[in-house]
Amino acid sequence: MRAAVLASYGEPLDLVDRPDPRPGEGQVVVDVAACGVCGSDVFLRKGGFASTLPIVPGHEASGVVTEVGAGVTSVAPGQPVAIYYIEHCGDCELCRAGRVNMCLHVRRMGVDFDGAFADRVLVPAENVIAVNADDDPAAIAVLTDAVATPYHGLVRVGRARPDETVVVFGIGGIGSNAVQIATHLGCRVVAVSRSESKLRLAQQLGAETCVTADDDVVENVRAVCGPAGPDIVVQTVGSAAVDEQAIAAVGVGGRVVLIGASLEPFRARAVDFIWKEATVHGSRGFVPDDIREVIDLYRAGVITTDHLVADRRPLAEANAALADLESGRVLRSVLVFGEGWSTR
Ligand SMILES: [Zn+2]
Ligand SMILES: [Zn+2]
Repeated sequence: MRAAVLASYGEPLDLVDRPDPRPGEGQVVVDVAACGVCGSDVFLRKGGFASTLPIVPGHEASGVVTEVGAGVTSVAPGQPVAIYYIEHCGDCELCRAGRVNMCLHVRRMGVDFDGAFADRVLVPAENVIAVNADDDPAAIAVLTDAVATPYHGLVRVGRARPDETVVVFGIGGIGSNAVQIATHLGCRVVAVSRSESKLRLAQQLGAETCVTADDDVVENVRAVCGPAGPDIVVQTVGSAAVDEQAIAAVGVGGRVVLIGASLEPFRARAVDFIWKEATVHGSRGFVPDDIREVIDLYRAGVITTDHLVADRRPLAEANAALADLESGRVLRSVLVFGEGWSTR
């Protein structure tokens, strides 16, 4: 099979031939139909995750199960699936509490083990979620991460309620979907971006107010959110300066939900939180039910993936897809491996 491999940080991926994976006990082989190219892949290539190299990136994928290992009864060959990229032990405190995204023995596809920038990928059987043959594989792929991540942040971490005001910093692959999910939840959404075109997209996805991210962004956000300030601020930009803006902008009793990962420290004072009884939450990935719920919303026509799946490329163009994302030319690219679910 073909695979795009990261051999050293900062370098382009190499397209190589590799032996097909064979399923061990409890594992399945998935022929990849589509895999989103995500900001995390750019972060990975820069060395942000300290992976063991070489690694095949790709954590936002769909495909068809083609082989199952011993003991697998939950899924059969031929089944189209979404892949949940977080391998979890099922037995630690966090797994037993249903918080499998934070499993103490977590291994992430495309970060800790080889991912779906390849014709085939090997995953535990419990990491595939059956989908329908008439679903679009590219849409299913991006729902598993670009949409499920802000869904988790808003629903499970931020606990957004109808009529709350939600400010979204950054209208990229994650932030654009935070806008449409918060809108669906009945929140009043304020979108913040430097880019006029991204603010227009945010408006199409339901944002009521757009604020340009300039030097006065905190004052301008607070001016449109009323005297108590926003209930939730979702921070999707990997920037410590924006972390500080998000904390400064949050309202009385508000929650800051950090999704955009930056390795830089930010500055804050205890009084910034005490006086407002504000809280800051990290939101890490998502759980399998988040994927099931966003797929349901997508099928119901409540949320769209059109802005995420327009830019489709073959595996051989994985480096160009990463460059597009890094330059901000696209919110997402999707690597596609064939026509629909058929890849051979
Ligand atoms: Zn991702
Ligand atoms: Zn666990």
